[in-house]
Amino acid sequence: MRPCGKFPSMQNVVIIGSGPAGLTAAIYTARANLKPVLIQGAHAGGQLTLTTEVENYPGFRHAILGPDLIKEMWAQAERFGTKFVTGDVSSIDFKTHLLRVTVEGEEAIETKTVIIATGASAIWLGVPGETLLMGHGVSSCATCDGFFFRSQELVVVGGGDTAMEEANFLTRFASKVSVVHRRDKLRASKIMQDRAFKNEKITFVWNSQVEEILGDDVVTGVRLRNVVTGQESELKCAGVFVAIGHSPNTGLFDGHVEMDARGYIVTKHGMATNRPGVFAAGDVQDIRYRQAITAAGSGCMAAMDAERYLESLA
Ligand code: NAP
Repeated sequence: MRPCGKFPSMQNVVIIGSGPAGLTAAIYTARANLKPVLIQGAHAGGQLTLTTEVENYPGFRHAILGPDLIKEMWAQAERFGTKFVTGDVSSIDFKTHLLRVTVEGEEAIETKTVIIATGASAIWLGVPGETLLMGHGVSSCATCDGFFFRSQELVVVGGGDTAMEEANFLTRFASKVSVVHRRDKLRASKIMQDRAFKNEKITFVWNSQVEEILGDDVVTGVRLRNVVTGQESELKCAGVFVAIGHSPNTGLFDGHVEMDARGYIVTKHGMATNRPGVFAAGDVQDIRYRQAITAAGSGCMAAMDAERYLESLA
């Protein structure tokens, strides 16, 4: 396949993903005069575009809306000369020393380095009301949104470590947290379970599935179904935190870049993958922190690692 008409010559760096990791990598590589090309998929901006106020990103003492924060990063990356391509990457040829990235319907872009910043997606329940009320009481991040629910009753869905961590964290603000779990046993580690069981503000609703999230403009409750008895009930709450796992967006790289058992890209020596010239940043390689600020930090690291790699080729 010939190189892309828009980018006929060999590029220094192609960044895949337009969340805080990808955009920070773009700002740094653009300022290093590497003329980055950033490919943003159909859902540009990543998970920050699904949240409302961001109060824990340093530099914004009065908070900033998630989509506005992304817009600012985007404009900053553009200001220093980042070229943006909109479309989903359909394939990457890792076979040769030179890398080829193909965006659907376009010709391949040849590049010396690639920074993968495709993020991870929260797994959602897929029940009525969930999409409508996202950012208005439905969230997948207690660290980001818990503060908004002072003295209110909340629901956390899930039985793993994330659900226990979120439930414990939310008790700093909420008057009561109900953990709704589809079985009568938790998947979470013993220590996380014990912590949750000891917390007087946490109660458990066992063997139950959320069937619907209720509310017109904001969340007012959930409709539950007991999976053993089939009985339905309603539980009043001001917020629903869905903690049923995340899935890294790495399908495209399967078999090409080393991943762990959960499909997260393995990075070593900074942000390098096992492929020369291929780096990864943000949630795509981070199961632990998953914050906008940590994603941005690793985007900076990946940019600096790519810059050093390019210097080593010269
Ligand atoms: P997880 O361990 O996969 O747990 C997901 C939970 O959600 C399970 O309890 C599962 O129920 C439930 N679930 C899945 N799909 C569901 C659905 N459609 N409806 C209702 N419930 C559903 O995910 P995680 O808790 O995000 O943890 C991911 C990894 O990160 C784990 O290895 C965990 O140990 C680690 N982690 C560690 C810490 C820490 O150490 N501080 C904190 C967070 C995460 P079932 O149990 O019935 O399958």
